Amino acid sequence: QNGSEKPATSPNGGAKLPPATASGDRMNATFVTLARNSDLWEIAKSIRNVEDRFNRKFNYDWVFLNDDDFNDEFKKVTTALVSGKTKYGKIPTEHWSFPDFIDQDRAAKVREEMKEKKIIYGDSISYRHMCRYESGFFFRHPLMLDYEWYWRVEPSIELYCDINYDTFKFMADNKKKYSFVLSLYEYVDTIPTLWDATKNFTKTHPQHIVKDNSLKFLSDDDGENYNHCHFWSNFEIGNLDWLRSDAYIDYFNSLDHAGGFFYERWGDAPVHSVAAGLMLKKDEIHFFNDIAYYHVPFTHCPTGEQYRLDHKCHCNPKENFDWNGYSCLSRYFELNNMAKPEGYEKEQ
Ligand code: GDP
Ligand code: MN
Repeated sequence: QNGSEKPATSPNGGAKLPPATASGDRMNATFVTLARNSDLWEIAKSIRNVEDRFNRKFNYDWVFLNDDDFNDEFKKVTTALVSGKTKYGKIPTEHWSFPDFIDQDRAAKVREEMKEKKIIYGDSISYRHMCRYESGFFFRHPLMLDYEWYWRVEPSIELYCDINYDTFKFMADNKKKYSFVLSLYEYVDTIPTLWDATKNFTKTHPQHIVKDNSLKFLSDDDGENYNHCHFWSNFEIGNLDWLRSDAYIDYFNSLDHAGGFFYERWGDAPVHSVAAGLMLKKDEIHFFNDIAYYHVPFTHCPTGEQYRLDHKCHCNPKENFDWNGYSCLSRYFELNNMAKPEGYEKEQ
């Protein structure tokens, strides 16, 4: 203390320090989390990570969605942790139930078969509703209609580096619509006919397929077959108006009627990825190398020691999944003529 000026707050003064927020305007953006009341302590961890590394400087809102009512404890704890406004929404039953065109017996039989085959979540009804909801509805929830940008956060994730700039503004300034940090191959057994359904859609809606897209990320034979690469959707920063566009909604509706959310176990990750890969220009998809991230069982830890030191990263570079044989990141780099970061060979 220099003695001449009164400090902004003294231990006894009782004056509260305002939060140390970044200067400048904010984007029309929100975090969004789909969760159950039982996810409280795992989502609490995620929020703490996101706040410490990013949002305490930006104070963006956070929308929580649930097929049930959130209880008071869930609301109390999450509201205390989030530095922006929190909002809690219940999902309408129509968005979390079997559509009338789905044959329930056929769907039940598939769950039995998938259980025997030990396909992950293969016997779960709620997981299927979740995947369908994240594919086709979250961006249309009344609470989401106020926003243009979203950042999806799931329970139990970690962020490992400081993020010192506004990622939403970055997306807008650079004309990005969708983004990812991890990409990998999907389990084939969960999506055997997703690509056929997609090809049907591209035939009936050719106007929605853009030139200069990322088909090469998705297919090795010019669209004949799907190579199963997808962006992992438990992390997403994206543009809600794109998801609400005719192109995306037409795609979702056509997949929904094909029935694969229930007759197979289509995940929202391949659905978002195929949509982004075909209906966005390739330079509208962004790889956030600087968002160091963990969702069980994979880690994205930025390549390059100096970067990690400068951003106070605490991930172990040996755990970085980027250049692993099961990662699709190399394909994304090749498609976009991007140079792999210096030192990547050492982390393969
Ligand atoms: P995984 O990451 O694919 O293993 O799936 P998660 O269990 O993490 O579920 C994905 C997201 O959906 C998470 O944000 C969960 O909290 C949420 N979720 C999954 N099942 C349900 C459900 O039945 N109800 C609600 N409200 N949220 C769910
Ligand atoms: Mn998860």
